[in-house]
Amino acid sequence: MRSFAYCTADDVSQAVTKHGADDRVAYVAGGTTLLDLVKLDVMRPAQLVDINRLPLDEVETLDDGRLRIGATVTNTDLAHHPEVKAHYPLLSQALLAGASTQLRNMATTAGNVMQRTRCPYYRDASAACNRREPGSGCDAMHGINRMHAVLGVSDQCIATHPSDMCIAMAAIGATLTLEGPDGKREIAFNDFHRLPGDQPEKEHELRPGELITHITLDTPIEGAGAYYLKLRDRASYEFALASAGAIVAVEDGVIREARLALGGVATKPWRSHEAELALHDQPAAVSTFEMAAEAAMQDAVPHEYNAFKIPLARQAIVRALREACRDAENANQQR
Ligand SMILES: Cc1cc2nc3c(=O)[nH]c(=O)nc-3n(C[C@H](O)[C@H](O)[C@H](O)COP(=O)(O)OP(=O)(O)OC[C@H]3O[C@@H](n4cnc5c(N)ncnc54)[C@H](O)[C@@H]3O)c2cc1C
Repeated sequence: MRSFAYCTADDVSQAVTKHGADDRVAYVAGGTTLLDLVKLDVMRPAQLVDINRLPLDEVETLDDGRLRIGATVTNTDLAHHPEVKAHYPLLSQALLAGASTQLRNMATTAGNVMQRTRCPYYRDASAACNRREPGSGCDAMHGINRMHAVLGVSDQCIATHPSDMCIAMAAIGATLTLEGPDGKREIAFNDFHRLPGDQPEKEHELRPGELITHITLDTPIEGAGAYYLKLRDRASYEFALASAGAIVAVEDGVIREARLALGGVATKPWRSHEAELALHDQPAAVSTFEMAAEAAMQDAVPHEYNAFKIPLARQAIVRALREACRDAENANQQR
């Protein structure tokens, strides 16, 4: 491992100043992604700015009903927060489906958003990877691509975005607050991660030196049901082969509002507006869920070993929608 300098910061402006928009400097939170990649020689920071002392570890309900989450709130604290469990069950379920208890205790909200792909070629400094080293090629394209993406792919990169938490946020809708050398700004969660296109190394819209300070969730949909389904090779401590996060509001057996996002199959947290359109004002029935699943996966592009993900994702969608509708009906009965 290469050596690096280390410093801490006590407030946001100090952290931004210490970073100095220098591409050899990185913020470190829980370190569960960053330090792994440093050890693998994939990330080579000359300096780390530790942000754990910043006052960004609170979850608060805003006057307009949205929920504001500080960047350093841990995945464990967020999953078990009473407001999240009561009003954003999809987020709690997705967080608890991720990693392990020990990792969730360290992993932070912003770190999870910024985590890197688990593509083995990205994580192997001797392999060709356009995401890690632009123009070097992509060994996954004709390699062992069983875990790779079928949605949002390009001829430069087929790496999946690995997060569970982000799938829930993509479905719920959220806003990121960023602070950097040019001040504060906000960006919609679903615009933050980029498709690989011909610049897979540009993974997100963060500008040099910018820090994510908060993520604010949209107001929850009244009376909606939710379900996060994660399909993977083993039941814990494993990334998704396919996952589906569904939120539905059902009235008299008809779907009035639906949100659907997919994980494990796409190059970024994948909100499926096509599926949502197929669900809107339709009966809450398996035939509707199947049409939505078809719509969600219609543009999927498989490679040699990952074609199985297309029917797997369709099945995950149908099951997540069925369970979310059941949850909505239970909620309706209790009202
Ligand atoms: C074995 C293992 C299994 C895992 N399984 C899963 C899983 O099943 N599902 C899942 O979703 N995740 C999984 N993860 C990933 C884990 O959730 C992430 O590593 C974690 O969320 C990253 O958070 P962190 O605070 O440790 O980030 P760090 O490692 O500290 O940072 C990660 C990146 O984010 C940047 N960063 C951190 N905070 C900020 C900020 N406020 N503003 C701007 N940039 C910032 C850092 O510079 C760095 O580039 C797994 C990880 C491991 C090691």
